[in-house]
Formats: sequence, structure tokens, C-alpha cells
Amino acid sequence: MIEADLQNLAEAALESSYDSVLITDSNLSHPEIVYVNPAFCEMTGWSRDEVIGRTPAILQGEETDRQVTDRLRRALEAGRNFEGRTINYRKDGRPFHIEWRTSPVRNDKGEVTHYLAIQRDVTAQVRLMRRLRQQAESDGLTELLNHKAGESELNAAIIGARQQEKPLSVALLDIDHFKAVNDEHGHAMGDLVIERIGHLVNQHLNRQDIGVRWGGEEFLLILLETDLDAASRAAEAFRKLIADTRFHDEINVTGSFGVAQCRPGEDGAALFKRADDALYRAKQKGRNRVCVSES
Ligand code: GH3
Ligand code: MG
Ligand code: MG
Repeated sequence: MIEADLQNLAEAALESSYDSVLITDSNLSHPEIVYVNPAFCEMTGWSRDEVIGRTPAILQGEETDRQVTDRLRRALEAGRNFEGRTINYRKDGRPFHIEWRTSPVRNDKGEVTHYLAIQRDVTAQVRLMRRLRQQAESDGLTELLNHKAGESELNAAIIGARQQEKPLSVALLDIDHFKAVNDEHGHAMGDLVIERIGHLVNQHLNRQDIGVRWGGEEFLLILLETDLDAASRAAEAFRKLIADTRFHDEINVTGSFGVAQCRPGEDGAALFKRADDALYRAKQKGRNRVCVSES
């Protein structure tokens, strides 16, 4: 193929590319856009005339990851290719997620004359991944975190508390005589009660705290920045709330609580074990009460 034909073909290919293509000059301190393809215009809402001569920074905004743009600059300064993901903004201000590659374009002397950025809108994939993650982490009945996610949140909360030198406590709740609820009202009604208790936990926890459906009718409350005293007061408030609630007009249940504050160096499993031991004592002492594990 002769040179001119090849150039025409290259240009037509860029114009019809499904991915967004943007080319800037090689001035890294203030790059100017010299070319965008129709896919770019479609993705960003900017027309070609509006962006030629301007900087690609017009695509950035509040949530654009600065670490990614810094990494981009370092890669290009070193003459390397760049690959990353970030959030860009459309002309109308709407954010979108992109997967993005930039590479230097060199002339026949090997000098960098331009940068070629190829971007793809991955917003739909990001949303799907988020939804799948939420589904994987949440308990279908109560919409609280499920056991597995709760376990990793507990360990993360312990690490965070240690770093910030803040107290951390947990309260473990087990509904009393729940077998009797199932026996008297049926398993489906039992499920509804568990669902309502999950919602009560959700509504009455402080915003930063974490509610977990640990198992059947057992709930773990992860109380951030909370010492043993405050945690036992919170558990007492939940105990009263549950005892005072009439579920589906007729059903009354109570709950027993075991509360523990994380000790220095203690891991999630050890902290949970102490809360579980305290819960066992609450059951032994007659249920519908809060017992604490002394720190
Ligand atoms: P205790 O006061 O000692 O806690 O008595 P309990 O009857 O609640 O006994 P335990 O906590 O050992 O057992 C819980 C019972 O709750 C067992 C099961 O019948 C019931 N249960 C557990 N998960 C579910 C669930 O998802 N739905 C329903 N409907 N019942 C459940
Ligand atoms: Mg139980
Ligand atoms: Mg129980």
C-alpha cells in the first residue's frame, strides 16, 4: 500500500474507532488537544471545535483520582506508556468511569511529538461490579452485612481503631427462645421478625457503626470509637427497643447481649469469642439482658 493510502486508512480507522481517541501535542506542562475522534465527542459531549487547542484537564473534576493523573505525568515524562482507570466528566458535568491508555507518538528520529490517549467508558461495568459486590456482601433477608463481609469489616475496623488509637467495641445479640417463635407462628413469620430486627438495627445504629447478620437470629454490632461503657449503654438501648417492639402486631421477643471492647493486640476472632462468652452468661442469667466482658 502506498504511503498516502496508508495515511487515509489510518485516519479513517481513528474516525470510526469504537474507543475514544484523543491526541495532544508533546508539551507536558500544558498539553493542547490537536485531535479527537467522534467516539470522544459522543462519550464526553464536547464537539471537536470546542476542545481543539484546549487541555485534556477539561475532562477532570472533583472525583478524578489525582494519583492516577500524577502517575500519568510520571510515565509520560519517562517516555513510557500509561494505563489506568479514573473518573472523567462530561461537558454537562456528569461523571463517568474510564479505562484509559496513553502512549507517546514518535517521529522517525525517535522524538516524541504527540501523545495518544485511548479511553473507554466503563461506567456500566463499574456499576455492575458494585452491585454484585453489594449482593455478595449483604444478607438477603435483613440487608445488613452477611457473616463473611462482617468478619472482614470487623478485622478492618480493629486495624483502623489501632491506627487511630480509638476504642472499638462489639455487641453480639442473640434473640431469646427463637425456636418457640418458629414453633408458635411458623418459620415464615420467624423470618419476618428477623427481617424487622435487622431493620431496627439498621435504623438505630450510629451512621459509622456496622450491623452484621452473623447467623440465623444472631447479630453483631461493630461500634466504632466506642468504649465498653458506651457500648453497654448502646446494647441496653437495643435490648429495650427489641423488648418494647411488637412485631407484626402480636409477637414479642427479647434479646440477650454480650459486649466486649477490643484489647490491645486482640484480633477479630478473639474479640468475638469474649463477646460470645458474655452473651452465654446473659443467657445463663435468665436472658433479656446485657453482659459485658471486662477489658
Ligand atoms: P436461646 O434463648 O437460647 O437463644 O434460644 P433459641 O431458641 O433462640 O435457640 P438458639 O439461639 O440456639 O437457636 C436459634 C433458633 O432460631 C434455631 C432456629 O430454629 C431459628 N432460626 C435460626 N435462623 C433462622 C432463620 O433464618 N429464620 C427462622 N425463621 N428461624 C431461624
Ligand atoms: Mg442463636
Ligand atoms: Mg436464640
